[in-house]
Amino acid sequence: MSFEPLGLSPALLLAVRLLGLEAPTAVQLQAIPLVLQGCDMAVQAQTGSGKTVAYVLPLLQRLQSGGAHTPRRVRALVLVPTRELAAQVGEVVRSLAQHLPQALKVAVLFGGVSVNPQMMGLRGGADVVVATPGRLLDLLGHNALRLSDVQLLVLDEADRLLELGFADEVGPLLALLPAQRQNLFFSATLGPQVQALAASLLRDPVRVDVPDAPTGQQPVIEQRVIAVDPGRRTELLRHLVQEQGWHRVLVFVATQYAAQHVAWKLYKAGLFATPFHGGMAQGARAQVLAEFKAGQWDVLVTTDLAARGIDIAQLPVVVNYDLPRSAIDYVHRIGRTGRAGEDGLAVSFVSAQTEAHFRLIEKRQHMVLPRETAPGFEPGQEELPPDLAPVPGTGGIKGKRPSKKDKLRAATARALASG
Ligand code: AMP
Repeated sequence: MSFEPLGLSPALLLAVRLLGLEAPTAVQLQAIPLVLQGCDMAVQAQTGSGKTVAYVLPLLQRLQSGGAHTPRRVRALVLVPTRELAAQVGEVVRSLAQHLPQALKVAVLFGGVSVNPQMMGLRGGADVVVATPGRLLDLLGHNALRLSDVQLLVLDEADRLLELGFADEVGPLLALLPAQRQNLFFSATLGPQVQALAASLLRDPVRVDVPDAPTGQQPVIEQRVIAVDPGRRTELLRHLVQEQGWHRVLVFVATQYAAQHVAWKLYKAGLFATPFHGGMAQGARAQVLAEFKAGQWDVLVTTDLAARGIDIAQLPVVVNYDLPRSAIDYVHRIGRTGRAGEDGLAVSFVSAQTEAHFRLIEKRQHMVLPRETAPGFEPGQEELPPDLAPVPGTGGIKGKRPSKKDKLRAATARALASG
């Protein structure tokens, strides 16, 4: 199967060929014709399955056939949750749009960098805006653009964008869009909660669930679990990287502090390791990611900032040094490896303290993985006082953290017991 029968224009077919894409992936095959027909869609497809191209191609085609544009009026808006993803999606849009007979202007807007160049870039309007919600709101506040002509809205990593925290920014943005528009929600995880929300935002959506590729064709992400005492994880990680000769390892930790700390300890131990997290300046973030992609660092120690959407070719290993908070975060984290048909390995460290949390992840993922030990790193050699014991995941099990009421009850109980 090639791209030709999908109904795309010659200019887009040329761009696809020049990008070296020979055949559409499953999600592209299913989504492109439906987007071209103007359907609202909720698309769930594996991480790394080619989702970006699946919405960018038909988006460009629809804009191309939509006639001349009015300055300062945005016709397609792609919202993404992270700055890195904005830059990445912006690049895909630009490279696929470059041979269109009618040039389209693409603006990529994200925070952490000076707002002025982005404001300048919006002078004279833009056809496509790829943005993180916060910076887009800022620029709207400066009257740098308007959203009243948006014909096509894409929420990439839709479930994340509709989560609490982002909803505060996305809600007001959606209110600025015209009611008549095409909506496309894409993610690897569109659970029941998101579906309910999506139902209120989408018009008669076509739901597409792209099944994982058949065995033999899908990238195999081997998942392994190693039991280790929390205090020996850095040592074990260093041992594994050296012993297994791992290059380009993405290591997930729970906090920005841990990213700094673990990266520094690995670096001191002789590994090319560096941190990557939201507390770093945007310039440093972009530089580190580019260097890691170029193979200048072997180990990137990161928070969940890097868990979504970021496409790093040939990333063979992902390590959950700290466990993710939820099964959904687990899927996104391990999905950084095994991209575009390559195989990958995902290693999770568990300890007595985090075992129950990992079981919950396994249950939600309908899997049971054997617990392994590494020779010389068998657990049980470390006695941690309870107050130093690690917290499972970043903040315990999602939805299972004590509420204010629970805390109040506990405090009252303590007060009653001591009084
Ligand atoms: P995404 O799921 O959009 O993050 O894409 C994952 C990777 O698949 C990216 O590196 C894309 O360049 C690549 N990709 C997208 N479409 C195709 C295709 N039709 N054939 C081969 N690789 C592709």
